Amino acid sequence: MRCTSPSARPPEPRCGRPSRLVVALAALLLAASTPARAVEVRSAAKIEPSPAVVALRCGRLLDVRTGALKEGAVVVVRGDRIESVLERSAKAPAGASIVDLSAYTVMPGLIDAHTHTFLQPGDYDVQLLKQSLPRRTLQAAAQARALLLAGFTTIRDLETEGAMYGDADLRDAIADGLVPGPRMQVATRAISTTGNYALLGYAHEVAVPKGVQIADGPWEIRKAVREQIENGADWIKFYADYRKFQPGGEIEDLRVTMTQEEMNALVDEAARRHRPAVAHCYGDEAARAAVKAGVRSVEHGLFLDEATFKMMIEKGVYYCPTLTAYQTSYDATPTPAWKKVVDGHRESFQRAVRMKVKIASGSDAGDFPPADAAMELELMVQAGLPALKAIQAATLVDAELLGWQDRIGAAEPGKLADLIAVEGNPLQDISALRRVRFVMKGGRAFSAAP
Ligand SMILES: [Zn+2]
Repeated sequence: MRCTSPSARPPEPRCGRPSRLVVALAALLLAASTPARAVEVRSAAKIEPSPAVVALRCGRLLDVRTGALKEGAVVVVRGDRIESVLERSAKAPAGASIVDLSAYTVMPGLIDAHTHTFLQPGDYDVQLLKQSLPRRTLQAAAQARALLLAGFTTIRDLETEGAMYGDADLRDAIADGLVPGPRMQVATRAISTTGNYALLGYAHEVAVPKGVQIADGPWEIRKAVREQIENGADWIKFYADYRKFQPGGEIEDLRVTMTQEEMNALVDEAARRHRPAVAHCYGDEAARAAVKAGVRSVEHGLFLDEATFKMMIEKGVYYCPTLTAYQTSYDATPTPAWKKVVDGHRESFQRAVRMKVKIASGSDAGDFPPADAAMELELMVQAGLPALKAIQAATLVDAELLGWQDRIGAAEPGKLADLIAVEGNPLQDISALRRVRFVMKGGRAFSAAP
């Protein structure tokens, strides 16, 4: 807890780092406790080296650029890359091991551009006050694994909610093959200003941890950006406004948390180290200021007007609406206030679609179970976005947002072999993305068809 208290923060804030041993231990524990899944043939926690060449026989292969479904295509994977895509009649290369996915639609692995692996459903204060960082890291490893098995081969994890730099360790542990999970870009701690982020409301003499790094004024903010980059941040996230939802969904006191000067300093300092900035914005005023400062993406955007979207288009800013976060809150507590939030958000989303803003796909998974992360695409489709466009948001557009369009986002020769097989045709029924029966990440299979 002391680690997250600004007054007690050491000059090199590494005291919250879980060791890699802890993360490896997580994998073992998870493997032991995982309930059997009908379609899972291997423990996802046990990563086995794949043969050098694998041929995936697809029922159909989805070209996410055009929406074309190629019947009977064969995807040849060599090492971690897609080598070629062959016609049904073609012979697989000699020595290739064959994976029969002929009952499924194969497509590129999904990307979730807004997750919180270190966050769990349930009481936020309890997580920060009563759960140790090793405990939270173990849970994060479980969340990462669940996201991978749900078909998300890449995620952008947008802050640890008080768990310091654990996401950078998790990212590296996954990359090193210690634990299973998506490839990750991470934001570490995120930044807000005094009085503008939980935990709040405790007696003033009691030091409680904060869910973000608190920094005030351009210079403190620049220092916070430097610290976060030193400790592994790929993105610098900040809370451009802050709200407190009442249990029934009423928004209390939505306020912009930083001056324009502070936001400008944050984005500028991040850019000096070639890190993009990302802003949490519920309201229009915060979004306008963040866009003006130069962020790469605006998250949530519950109530954004045309002028703001126009600015975003002009500056090439992505809109990552995270519809699922509020829909799941409404589903759990269907009050008029939550309905107002969900309806207003949908209207903003529809406005963005009409105006052709670049729409990214991110669910905010963490506050709800990762297995439901594909709900984001369902909600986009329900709000009027064609299924192909929703799939493109979670593949091509997200890949571009992450700057990884050269390696992920499409099942094409030369790209990393991040592939999933789903039951059904997601172009006709987007909920097919909830029926992921096979996941391959970088040429390694993590679950397989029966
Ligand atoms: Zn979030």
